[in-house]
Amino acid sequence: CGIVGYIGHREAWPIVIKGLKRLEYRGYDSAGIALINDSGLNIYKKAGKVQELENFAAGKNLSGSIGIGHTRWATHGAPSDRNSHPHTSNNGKLSIIHNGIIENYATLKEELLTRGHEFKSDTDTEVLVHLIEEIYKNDNTDLLEAVRLALNEVSGAYAIVVMDEEQPGQLIAARKGSPMVIGVGDGEYFIASDATPIVEYTKNVIYLNDNEIAFLKRDELLIKRLDNVVQSPYIQELELKL
Ligand code: GLU
Repeated sequence: CGIVGYIGHREAWPIVIKGLKRLEYRGYDSAGIALINDSGLNIYKKAGKVQELENFAAGKNLSGSIGIGHTRWATHGAPSDRNSHPHTSNNGKLSIIHNGIIENYATLKEELLTRGHEFKSDTDTEVLVHLIEEIYKNDNTDLLEAVRLALNEVSGAYAIVVMDEEQPGQLIAARKGSPMVIGVGDGEYFIASDATPIVEYTKNVIYLNDNEIAFLKRDELLIKRLDNVVQSPYIQELELKL
């Protein structure tokens, strides 16, 4: 299982699909990618190999310079197209990819159901994106704060990336117990489970620590801890040889 994200000045699709292929060695049962462009949010997802996702998406609208991609190792909900990531919020505007397990998803789901949320999958992940949405709209806060507050209510392990159709210039990433690396480019950022999808674009990386949340724009990066303390990012140079 793996995650890939891109925000910058290039087309996201080729970078994300290639990144997912580089992460294939980690094992997975489904794959999916979400992109935002002028037409809005487009999501393509399929049970099976990354190649099947690529065939399925061929000829469709794949433009956009912000995107997230996922390979899934199912823990909650059978491997299927509808359980594949990315998952979306109730209003369809937020999308999320997640590796790991949200242990208290059932309790959270019950509460969200009483608040009128409708779920389209059997995953724990979809519950998290609906929780983020609920906090985002009720607390009149920005998305970074909504994700931070939501993660403070969650137990389990995760590497997540969240994208908002209405804020196509930003990505939010966070991790606890699942790996995540941020590649620092020139006016662009890459996110991945390990450095293999990133190394051909930049050697400068930041290994996100547990309980950290990153806010990324093309030319801006802010890292906080879940307790809201701002961190100064430590940029390392990769020594990987390809
Ligand atoms: N628990 C999530 C699911 O079953 C994510 C699994 C993964 O790590 O890929 O959809």
